[in-house]
Amino acid sequence: MTLIEDLLELFHVERRLRSLRSRVDSAETYLAVQTRQMLTLQERRDELETRKRQRKAHAANLETEAAGIDERTEKLREELNAASNTRQYHAVLNEVNSLKDKRSEIDEQTLVELTGADQIDAELTELDEKIAERRTVLESAETELTGRREEIKDSLAELDSERAAKAANIPSDTQQLFDGLSEDFDGEVMASIELIDKRRREYACDTCNVHLPFDIVNRVTGRPDEIVQCQGCLRILYASDNAREALVG
Ligand SMILES: [Zn+2]
Repeated sequence: MTLIEDLLELFHVERRLRSLRSRVDSAETYLAVQTRQMLTLQERRDELETRKRQRKAHAANLETEAAGIDERTEKLREELNAASNTRQYHAVLNEVNSLKDKRSEIDEQTLVELTGADQIDAELTELDEKIAERRTVLESAETELTGRREEIKDSLAELDSERAAKAANIPSDTQQLFDGLSEDFDGEVMASIELIDKRRREYACDTCNVHLPFDIVNRVTGRPDEIVQCQGCLRILYASDNAREALVG
């Protein structure tokens, strides 16, 4: 067999392999998207939990502060009752009043923190529902992927060894070229030369439609152990039956 014939066989196996793998690839991509979305939800959840903890801690501090004020106020009331003159009485009363203001300020702040914490709780409940929904989707995506992997496992192993056998016929530098092109063009490594107009000797690349000079066509058909790449799309060229017949005829 010529190099081009060997390459064509490798090319056909490569295409079958890739189309088989693409079933798994798309399931992998889908799972990756779902996993990312789940992570985003969980990050949001952590953030809410942190904010809730901060608000509750702040509220607890305020409550401690309020208890201190109450204690001090209690003491001052006793002093008020025991006040021996008006000046002393007014001084204590002033402090009691300013503590009262401070106390109601603290109450307001505490209420703000506790209400905030409640709102976060409501958000968390909503978020947990979303997370539960997402988890169901995620689990079915995992099942799907496992199923597809299982489905193609045998054919994949077969094609892999078939590919290795076909590749063994090809020199390593050509193999490297083939593999590189396959990566770049998702397996579409080769392009056929198609006859456009026999009388005018017009030929074109089947992949990119660029017109091919006649000497290129001659080289591809005349020296089937040489690699000729299309100048337009870089694919390795081979002659289609109609191009070959046109040259012969
Ligand atoms: Zn081309």
